[in-house]
Amino acid sequence: MTLTETEAEKTVGEVLREGIGFLEKHGMESARVLGERLLEGLLDCSRHELYLEGGRILPRETVETYFACLERRARGVPCQYILGKAHFMDFVFRVTPCVLIPRPETEFLVEKILEEAGMKSFEKGGPEILDVGTGSGNIAVSLAAYLPQAAISAVDISEEALEIARENARRIGRRGDARNAAATGIEFLKSDLFDRLPRTKRFDMIVSNPPYLSGEEMRNLPPEVSREPALALFGGERGTELIERLAAGAGDFLKPGGILFFEIGYEQGDMTRRLLRELGWREVEVFRDYCGRDRVVRAADFRSTACGTD
Ligand code: GLN
Repeated sequence: MTLTETEAEKTVGEVLREGIGFLEKHGMESARVLGERLLEGLLDCSRHELYLEGGRILPRETVETYFACLERRARGVPCQYILGKAHFMDFVFRVTPCVLIPRPETEFLVEKILEEAGMKSFEKGGPEILDVGTGSGNIAVSLAAYLPQAAISAVDISEEALEIARENARRIGRRGDARNAAATGIEFLKSDLFDRLPRTKRFDMIVSNPPYLSGEEMRNLPPEVSREPALALFGGERGTELIERLAAGAGDFLKPGGILFFEIGYEQGDMTRRLLRELGWREVEVFRDYCGRDRVVRAADFRSTACGTD
């Protein structure tokens, strides 16, 4: 019997067992986790509810949809693209293959930005923040939700990505409250890094999770990652070309004392530290993520007089 030839009604527990078995048969690692995640996503429930409600009969269409999802997963499509959603911080973001799937490492970047924002006071009550390469909008929308006073702008080179980011801003809204969904006030702009920003614009913080994979890494991507947009992954043959452009251009759009925050690949810490110092950035710091790997860079604008020397 193939998965699509199911005849009788099935319970949550039966379907889950079959699903996990199917993924195992296709040699998938973590078959249990994947099987659970797809069914949770489809039923919009938590993992423990799958087991608490193991005896519940599922509508036939749900079973068929689940099996279709399993087949796509076995062909290498990431769960988030199959379900059209990804968890990031406290929110659920809509994602399609036009945008990078938000990663837990990037939550660490958002935490560092929030920490910084919490330590300072700002002219306009809240910080003015620019998110460069917003993708699904996960960074910009989370910041808007957590920082009610902040004025947030977000740019991306891809119009399709901006569509998704706008939708996430509308759906998640300020403070993650759907009733305020219309009011994020994020300004979205199609731009290759800073190209289309008005020359007079200045921010307190510029933040980014830039593409940072090298040509070598792109040629050896795990199958799931190869489903994500190259535009969001590829940082140039050496991997750091986009980081170099970001570090060279950001100073022109920061207020004096403004801060640049961005994510890097775990082997790019030393190179990035050197680059930023050469470009005249101050207070250059590289933070390690929860796996102990270099992940987030912070630097203060070189024209700053308030920050002293580094
Ligand atoms: N800002 C998005 C994220 O962090 C997209 C980043 C990208 O496309 N490189 O997931």
